Amino acid sequence: MRILIVEDEIKIAHGLRDVLQESGFVPEMAHDGEDGWFKGSTEDYAAVILDIGLPKLDGLSVLRNWRREGRTMPVILLTAKGSWPERVDGIDSGADDYLVKPFHMEELLARLRALLRRNSDQGSTIMTCGNLSLDTRHMRVSVDSVPIKVTPLEFRLLSFLLHNGGRVASQEELATAIYFQDQEPDSNAVEVLVGRLRRKLKTDVLRTKRGFGYYLAESVE
Ligand code: CA
Repeated sequence: MRILIVEDEIKIAHGLRDVLQESGFVPEMAHDGEDGWFKGSTEDYAAVILDIGLPKLDGLSVLRNWRREGRTMPVILLTAKGSWPERVDGIDSGADDYLVKPFHMEELLARLRALLRRNSDQGSTIMTCGNLSLDTRHMRVSVDSVPIKVTPLEFRLLSFLLHNGGRVASQEELATAIYFQDQEPDSNAVEVLVGRLRRKLKTDVLRTKRGFGYYLAESVE
């Protein structure tokens, strides 16, 4: 899943990027409010981490612009210590959650996972479909409780599909959600990836809707 980070402090931005990448997400960055607004308006992200104090355009204005444009992706605000009126403004402007700087990366990840779960009908960090189970916290996959070794790319694909709750995702949508910006996947990369994953998982939950794309569904007995 693609996550947008809008943060002007390079150290924090890079720290967030690295942690998100290690945790199975596809992070993208913007370093000022205008660029962040543009990216969030024109690209689809599963969630956004948005700093309030930004050059060119402040985070609250960016958030209000998105909501006015009908952009509904979940947004976590990063706020300065002690500025509670700012947080009230943030939530009133359409933020879904906030974190006070300095924050622990683990807390940010937990809040992010919780926000992403809201849109799927899964109640815990262990998401399931049929006999497939994905531990989003520890990045583990199992089928019938037997652990399956998957690559980070394979994990990202399963995670994206599980968070989409059975909705069909096109190859193009999947490629955008699971490959990093500097990777240029071949046109048949997703197809190859799905084929490899099916052989590994040995379960029929990963389905093809011919001409449309892929989705997860429980087996029909
Ligand atoms: Ca800042």
